[in-house]
Amino acid sequence: VTPLEHLVAALDVGGTTTRGVIARAAGPGPPLVSTRAPTVTGEADVLVDVLGGTVSALASAAGVEIGELGAVGIGIPGIVDPVSGRVRHAVNLGVGDAPLYLADRLGASFGIPVVVDNDANLAALGAAAVLDHSDDLAYLSIGTGVAVGLVLDGRIRRGWRGAAGEIGHLPVDPDGPVCRCGQRGCLEAVASGAALARQWPADDGLSPATALFAAAAAGSAPAIAVRDRFAGHVAQAVAVIGLAVDPALVVLGGGVGEVGAPLLAAVRAALRARAGGSPLLADLDLAGRLALAPDGVAPGLVGAVELARSRVPAAATER
Ligand SMILES: [Zn+2]
Repeated sequence: VTPLEHLVAALDVGGTTTRGVIARAAGPGPPLVSTRAPTVTGEADVLVDVLGGTVSALASAAGVEIGELGAVGIGIPGIVDPVSGRVRHAVNLGVGDAPLYLADRLGASFGIPVVVDNDANLAALGAAAVLDHSDDLAYLSIGTGVAVGLVLDGRIRRGWRGAAGEIGHLPVDPDGPVCRCGQRGCLEAVASGAALARQWPADDGLSPATALFAAAAAGSAPAIAVRDRFAGHVAQAVAVIGLAVDPALVVLGGGVGEVGAPLLAAVRAALRARAGGSPLLADLDLAGRLALAPDGVAPGLVGAVELARSRVPAAATER
């Protein structure tokens, strides 16, 4: 039997889906308990309550009290200060300019350490733990929003204001729709899962991205057009990352990343088309540096577990 203080909880809060696990505080092995549910958005107080309930349900399923866990690690979109546990500008979760002190509020109610970081940062850490080039990679999260997590020279690059990697709010289309951040034509407004759902609504239970790529593979001309335009925008994001920080590897992830090989192929084709007219881009070989996370691995959760483990005193993890 695992002593109680040897367990941690981890959450990966996406704009659409929240995943959670209970895992051992040290050593290898799969999570003991896991969950996946729609993210409840709209109001910060409701979000706090729902996330608290998720941790509570995970603990119950693992047969422990929350107070018996070593720590909770949470990945969440937006501008996150991991020291204070403050979240701002998680525009897809209803968190705006007013700070949400998520770590303090959950920590006070649980009575154990709660630590929060940006979800893309944690996914980059998680990807670094399971892939080669572990000390230099970018994790491009294409979900409800678009953001990139950076592990450069072995360290997370958070940025001076915590905004490193918020490339979803890079305007790329002056005629595009107004973004929730207030600008027009952001990458997120044209190349996110939410943007894709507007362009290719799915009503058969599949995710819009899965439905779109299946329809394109089956030869639907409108689907091919939407897919190729979408892949072109993602390729633009990859080019921005490559030219700005030149990481060894760019990992495609997020909800849309679950499309897998067909997404990788479409974005590689778009990158090669760009490189066809540019000896500079051709030399960078961004298509060759693009990768998917291994099957069955949720890098954001791997990173959130690592974050929680970092807050458990080493003595508590020894048998
Ligand atoms: Zn924006």
